[in-house]
Amino acid sequence: ALEIGHDLGHALKNAQTFERERRLLEEVRELASYKSRLIATISHELRTPLTAVLGHLELMESARLPVLVAGSMQAVQRGAQRMRRMVEDLLVLSQVADPSRVLDPYPVDLAQVVEDVLGLLDVTLTRQELTVVFDAPDEPVRVPGDVVGLDRMCTNLIGNAAKYTPKGGTITITLVPSGEMVELSITDTGVGISPEDQERLFEEFFRSSDPEVLDIPGTGLGLAIVHRIVEQHHGTIDVVSAPGEGSTFTVSLPAKARPV
Ligand code: ADP
Repeated sequence: ALEIGHDLGHALKNAQTFERERRLLEEVRELASYKSRLIATISHELRTPLTAVLGHLELMESARLPVLVAGSMQAVQRGAQRMRRMVEDLLVLSQVADPSRVLDPYPVDLAQVVEDVLGLLDVTLTRQELTVVFDAPDEPVRVPGDVVGLDRMCTNLIGNAAKYTPKGGTITITLVPSGEMVELSITDTGVGISPEDQERLFEEFFRSSDPEVLDIPGTGLGLAIVHRIVEQHHGTIDVVSAPGEGSTFTVSLPAKARPV
């Protein structure tokens, strides 16, 4: 009887701990959701006046201004544009980071998504004189997911490859079904990433302190958004890179929907 009592006491304690942990987890989730909604509201509210500022600045571009004023105007415009990029990225991050947002998976052809993104980035890629090689099977490569999120994921990764690769470089994209997963790799011949920076790449607002990188406009939110989208799709993302030698980002996504 003593032993049974002991076991019961143990089980009760376990149940209490379990319940406490469940409640804690719920609270963390609620807080994360609140944070996302707060960021969404703020970025939304900032967008309207910012659009007005940028609109007026554009109007003033055609005015004949003294050189000194024109210089200041350009600086103001660059600042406002930077702010807009930040607001847009924050809005997307708040949408994908909200844990209360559940994914309703739908079969998405990743090869088509990559083709679409390449089409949209065409002007940038040509301007940068970049060669793009896209290697994918002839048939569609479908993954269960959210087409808007997957499009954003590819835009950010391919956009980064273009941004951080000097003129004349090459971007190689491969898409291969690999067992139960689908693997998408984006390799560039760009500036590369140091091992210390690789540790922090997916943090919100992280940008390399490399002067070569700081000259290129960015918000440091692109990869945080990618990371969250990959997580939402129950996938993984890895990076292999060396400074001066380029980078490879590999996303691995389940080819089949997980049973609920
Ligand atoms: P952003 O490009 O707006 O700065 P990201 O979150 O997309 O923000 O990327 C974070 C940082 O990771 C970049 O500032 C850059 O230092 C580094 N990075 C990302 N992609 C690449 C790449 N393909 N090659 C070299 N560095 C990269």
